[in-house]
Formats: sequence, structure tokens, C-alpha cells
Amino acid sequence: TKPESDRTKVALPQGINQTTFRTAIAELCDRLGDEYVEFVTKLDDGWYMENPNTHDGMHISDDSDFVASVVVYPGSTEEVQTIVQWANAYRIPISPISIGRNYGYGGAAPRVRGAVVLDLGRRMNRILDINPDDCTCLVEPGVTYFALYEEIQARGFQHLWVDVPDIGGGSVLGNALDRGVGYTPYGDHWMMHCGLEVVLPTGEVIRTGMGALPGNNSWQLFPYGFGPTADGIFSQSNMGVVTKMGFGLMPNPGDHESYLYTFPKDEDLSQLIDIIRPLRIAMILENVAQLRHISMQVGLEGKPRSSYYKGKGRMPDSFIHEAAQSLSHGDCSWLYYGMSYGPKEIRQYKLDIIHKEFMKIPGARRIDPASLLQMTTSGFETESPLGSPISKNSAGPVSPVRGNDAMALWDIARKRCDEYDLDFFPTFVVGLREMHLIVEIVFNRDDPAMRNNARACLRGMIDDAAKRGYGEYRTHLAFMDQIAGTYNWNNGALLKFNEKIKDCLDPNGIMAPGKSGIWPARYRGRGWEM
Ligand code: ADP
Repeated sequence: TKPESDRTKVALPQGINQTTFRTAIAELCDRLGDEYVEFVTKLDDGWYMENPNTHDGMHISDDSDFVASVVVYPGSTEEVQTIVQWANAYRIPISPISIGRNYGYGGAAPRVRGAVVLDLGRRMNRILDINPDDCTCLVEPGVTYFALYEEIQARGFQHLWVDVPDIGGGSVLGNALDRGVGYTPYGDHWMMHCGLEVVLPTGEVIRTGMGALPGNNSWQLFPYGFGPTADGIFSQSNMGVVTKMGFGLMPNPGDHESYLYTFPKDEDLSQLIDIIRPLRIAMILENVAQLRHISMQVGLEGKPRSSYYKGKGRMPDSFIHEAAQSLSHGDCSWLYYGMSYGPKEIRQYKLDIIHKEFMKIPGARRIDPASLLQMTTSGFETESPLGSPISKNSAGPVSPVRGNDAMALWDIARKRCDEYDLDFFPTFVVGLREMHLIVEIVFNRDDPAMRNNARACLRGMIDDAAKRGYGEYRTHLAFMDQIAGTYNWNNGALLKFNEKIKDCLDPNGIMAPGKSGIWPARYRGRGWEM
């Protein structure tokens, strides 16, 4: 049993009194075992390999905003059902996470203070299937990219690849559900998923696609099954707890070769993006590549900001370029990191086209990978790039792959960063026919003024972008209402539709209230939106 003092410090969910809460948690302990129910009495921000499951370790607002009361560790789909039924009986909000890293988007935090976090990752971490012939897998929420990779190696299936979004500590299932992306041709993780098992907010379990047919042999092969495809409503949503998810895995294409081009001027962006579009759609540029600004590259060096610049506000461009002189590829404004796949003769055909097209930009340079200390196409810094204690939050507006759109997004982001005295680390990520500008806002989370600026800056960017027709693809908990509000065609018809589904599937409004701006009836219009 937990010490008395632990029980009094926790953040209670609104509308639940201390006595009811204690009774409810005691019942949960009885059903699952004391050791799988933990009160949240202290918040430790942790680090990459030990991300907190109680709150957002990169908090952009006050510690107290998005905090769990209790973390519970179910061990099976049946136990998830038990918890969901329990939550309905007491009207206690619950919030599922897999690993809960979710960096830049709210981490493991629930949207409503005092919710019970369902940490599925700790115990539900089995790899249920790896099929070396079909190149598929079926995983539980706690399977990380590292774990999947290691199991593939251990089983001797070296021909199977795993597409990772950053360095591999996150949940394969969680990342795909929230529509995270990686960098190989299988980088659109949601697109590559095939088949879900979901516990609905009222406790029933469904399997989607072919999984609904008993005895089927193609759950991970054909995503649609028969009838409406339900999968979409469980992505970036609060309509259920996903307990199993299938994926296609990329077979090793024979060989691969990374390449890097640099471009000298900020203004080259426009021409470069117009060069990229047809090459990407035609898959000459084969992967979800990154077009990184030099400021990001300098930031990734891992040195404190003060070693480059001691002034306030955004680090002036001249200092960034000076710092870039010492990088192995030298100074530039933009870097395109890409990968070519297949045997030498196939690669060479594509690389020659890429070279010819990229070299149309005056001053473009192809960097010999051998000349670099370390060639990386990974997603983002894992340690504080510019001092400590550092946090990051991102904005990710979606746009066409066009030079004038790229310049417009760049302009919006830079103006807002200047306005709020924040450094600016832009990267364009070209999906296939669209791109997002990922703007990492890096701030000191112990500095309330800087934190407020980071929030205001992101809010400003979201509004400016929406006014010009650009919408965010994913966001932090704090901005979900604002962004859901920008997708408001025809009087907010889409949000109304989502709310209708929500009220139908989750009549007591217990499942992650407010996630993606979708509030259940019990909460809607009662001051929760922010
Ligand atoms: P990662 O550790 O890979 O970043 P998370 O576990 O943080 O992934 O998942 C990202 C987000 O996806 C969570 O904040 C949550 O909203 C949602 N999510 C994750 N796992 C589940 C799940 N099993 N069922 C429903 N939603 C989930």
C-alpha cells in the first residue's frame, strides 16, 4: 500500500473528490495489483532514455497544467478493458500512451490535469509476429524501434529494415498512431500500418481490416477488409486504446548510399524546392528527405549557445555562418540530406539526375560522405544543443512543394522568432506531394518569460500560417484546440463530425478528453478549450 502522504499530493481530476478518488484507486489496485498502480507525487523531467510518463518533460507551460494523478500499467488487452470499464464507472479521465516520448508534442502528459495515464509500454511490449516472407510485423504498444530491430537481427531476418523517426527509443505503434514520420521510403508510418486491435472507450474490443474475419491469414497484408475503414478515427484521436498494430517492413533493397548537397544562400530555397518537387514525386528522390537550414546544423553540434553568441534574441545570421565555417562541410545556407537505394547501377542512374538538377543552383556543392565525420539523416537533437535545461516544441505547417510556399513559410516562422527573441531552426521535410516546415522552438524551460515567448511564438505562427492556407500536421497538447479551430471549413463541420463520433463511442467522456481538440459532451464549452 502507498504511504498516506503520497496520496494527498496528487493532482485530482476535476469534479472528483478526494474520497471518491481514493475509493476508485483502491478498486483499481484490487483489480490489477498494487504494483501496477502508481500515484504521481513527483515530476522528474528525465532524459531521452528515461522519458517521464507523468507529464511533459519539455513543458511549455506551468508544471501543473498537464499532469497525471496516477499511472497504471496494464499487462494485457483484457486489463485495458478492465481499466476502461473502471474509468466509466467513476467518470475518471484516462489517457493512453505507448512509450510516451512524443517529443515536442506534449510527451506523456494527459490533456486534462489529474487524468490517469495508461502506460501500455511497460508491460505490453511483445513482438507478436515478424513474417520474413511477407515482410510484416505485429506489435504491442511497448515495442520500440530498438527492440524491433534487435529481434529482427536475433531471428536472422537481416533482409528486413525498420524505419525510425529519430534514434529509435520511441514506440513503433505510438509514433504511427500520432502520424510521426521517418526517413526511408517507408517513412509515412501511418500509411505503412496494416491492421489494428482497439479497446473502445466503453470497453469492447475490435480488430480492423482483415482482423475482423476469424481465422484470417492476411491481417497485416490488406489494410481495408470490407466496408468503411475504421482505422482513421483511431489516429491522432481519443476514440480508443490501440493494443496491437501491424506494419509492412521494407526489404533491404540491395544497397544504399547517402548523399549531401549544400546550397550557399537563404534565397536558394525557392529554386531548390521547385527542383525537388518533380524529382520527389517521380521517386528519383526516394526518401522523406530533409532540407535543413545551417542554423539547425550548427545547433546539432551540441555546443552551448554562449560559445557562439552571448547576446539576446535570435542569434544573428552572421554568427551562425561564422560558426558553420568549422563544420566538416563548411558554411552554406541549406543542406539536403538524402538516400539512394538499390545496387550501384540503379543508384547511379538516379544520383546522376539528382546531381545534374541540384547543380543548377549556383554555388551548389556535393559533399563527399567520406569527408564528413558523421553523416546523419536522423531527426533531431537528443541532447541540449544550445545550453541547458533545454526544451523543444515544434510547429509543422503543411504546404505544397513549391518555392513560393517555402519562402512564405520561412518568412512567417522567421518573423515570429524575431518578434519573440527565439532562435530559429527550420527544416523542410518533403513527404511526396507535400512538405512540412518543421520549426523547432528551443527554449529554457526554467525561464518563464522565455517559455511564454515560445508559446506565443508558436500560437502566432499557427495563426499566420492558417491565414495563408497552411495547416499543422501534428502539435503539442497546448495548441490542439487552436489548430482544430483552423480546420473549420463549412462552419467547423469536421470538428462537429468528430464530436458526434466521440459522443457516440465515449458517452461518459473518459478517453483522453481534449486530445486533438475533440472534447466529449461532458466537457465541451465549459472552459476547457485553450
Ligand atoms: P512515442 O514514444 O513513440 O513518441 P507515444 O507513446 O508518446 O509515442 O505516443 C504518441 C501519442 O499517441 C500519445 O501521446 C497518445 O496520444 C497516442 N497514443 C500512443 N499510444 C496509444 C495507444 N496505444 N492507444 C491510443 N493512443 C495512443
